[in-house]
Amino acid sequence: MYVVTGATGALGRLAVKELLDRVPADQVAAVVRDKDKAADLAALGVELRLADYGDPASLRAAFAAGDRVLFISGNEVGQRPAQHQAVVDAAKEAGVGLLAYTSILGGPAADFGLARDHQYTEQAILDSGVPYVFLRNGWYSEVYTQNLGQFLEQGAILGSAGDGRVASAARADYAAAAVAVLTGEGHENKAYELSGDVAWSFDEFAAELSRQAGKEITYRAVPPEQQREVLAGAGVPEPMIAFLQDIDGAIARGLLAGRTGELSRLIGRPTTPLADSIAAALRA
Ligand code: NDP
Repeated sequence: MYVVTGATGALGRLAVKELLDRVPADQVAAVVRDKDKAADLAALGVELRLADYGDPASLRAAFAAGDRVLFISGNEVGQRPAQHQAVVDAAKEAGVGLLAYTSILGGPAADFGLARDHQYTEQAILDSGVPYVFLRNGWYSEVYTQNLGQFLEQGAILGSAGDGRVASAARADYAAAAVAVLTGEGHENKAYELSGDVAWSFDEFAAELSRQAGKEITYRAVPPEQQREVLAGAGVPEPMIAFLQDIDGAIARGLLAGRTGELSRLIGRPTTPLADSIAAALRA
């Protein structure tokens, strides 16, 4: 069976749909923690397996021997090392055939806070001896295009990423790569550095948004201290400020600009241009 965890999330849904284009529905299972949220997936003929990363006992039912599993990282930052360890333990116990994990661009070399949980998880997988693939995903373009409303309202994009660049790709590109690995041959025990074909700057992002929206949007690059003041003044909670600064710092240091071409090679087509992702978000 092809198994997708986090299947009710944005990436997971795209991966399930992509899988269904390639294999019969009776070969696809979705690991979800809320069956009601997955009713649409069940309606497509996908088997639902109920499990929570935070409940090791529930994970016993998540996997079976030989499964090829797309393990989508959780979104509860701080709890992920224990949760992900439980997933890895369950995958080992079941004897899965392949565990493809959504890690972070740079893997062990990524020196920013958000990367730590992924580094922990990669090591746990290596230690388990389970055949693996590390899908070291760069940024989704949607991380930014989901905020277009705010940028348009404010006429500005505020950040402390300086003139750093982001080689983002659409979520759908990363989902297609994950499915290519799951359904393909010869990927065992490899790490792929996945990112978009083009690395854009925030000035370029603002210019493209301005062009498409017909409204002038500028990028305001500020030092981290000023970013903190502005965000705190707007009522953004401290953990979120720290999170945003961690990411902007990584971008400023060029850690999310890497263009390896591995994503377009895996999916057999160019990655989705930023302009297309902006257009899709404006249409939505
Ligand atoms: P989502 O937040 O849409 O999906 C996360 C999925 O993980 C959901 O299905 C969620 O379940 C599931 N999940 C979280 N905690 C648990 C748990 N304790 N037990 C079982 N399932 C759990 O994120 P995306 O799909 O957009 O992205 C996938 C992952 O990629 C994120 O979780 C995060 O680790 C990472 N990410 C990467 C980004 C990038 O730019 N590369 C940006 C943002 C996140 P439920 O549906 O029930 O909530």
